[in-house]
Amino acid sequence: MRIDKYLANMNVGSRKEVHKLIKDGVVTINGKVVKTPKEKVTEKDQIMVGDQEVTYQKYHYFLMNKPKGVLSATEDRSQQTVISLLQNKDKYKGIVPVGRLDKDTTGLLLLTNDGQLNHELLAPNKHVNKIYRADIAGIANEDTIKQFAKGMTLGDGTKLKPAELKILSQDVENDTSKIEIKISEGKYHQIKRMFGAVGMKVVELERIVMGNLSLPADLKRGQYKELSLNEIEKIK
Ligand code: URA
Repeated sequence: MRIDKYLANMNVGSRKEVHKLIKDGVVTINGKVVKTPKEKVTEKDQIMVGDQEVTYQKYHYFLMNKPKGVLSATEDRSQQTVISLLQNKDKYKGIVPVGRLDKDTTGLLLLTNDGQLNHELLAPNKHVNKIYRADIAGIANEDTIKQFAKGMTLGDGTKLKPAELKILSQDVENDTSKIEIKISEGKYHQIKRMFGAVGMKVVELERIVMGNLSLPADLKRGQYKELSLNEIEKIK
């Protein structure tokens, strides 16, 4: 790969910024100053920019605050996808969302091209906890907490693992509740179907936690941040 492409892929800067660094003579490959952006590198070479080593990173991990109206998919003919929100997405070959959030669900969504991690996090026996916050039409009460806690069975016979429901507030006059729910699996429309099974409706749904990763308060809808390997390891 060309050194300019390599440095841009490793997020050292845009192609233009990288060309400037090369022109300034601060980029070295195995101790030799790079003269032209066309020079080739492999992942075995030692690449430095000034006194900083730029190590090869094969996989990328992003934590996105998914906005409403966007599909958790890689591409779609007519609708916007979470991948289409990534800048410079061509740099991250094979990047996919880790699982799905419904089109109208917001919040924490991981994106990665690390197929093994993706697989591990979605494996049914992995139990990565997920916490959602929701606005509900209906009054969730102690009874709802108990039903969710014992592991409910949905209308189609799907048996669910125990889920932890916390009631944040109830508005009896308007027949609404704000809740937080912790689940350890990811069945299709799971939270919506759970509330449906007790005669209530999810009006707004946001995922705020996955494993030990929380949605950062300053990450606006549609924004994302790259996670280091250390940070992504925390999720397991
Ligand atoms: N449960 C749902 O019903 N929808 C989601 O997007 C996630 C969990």
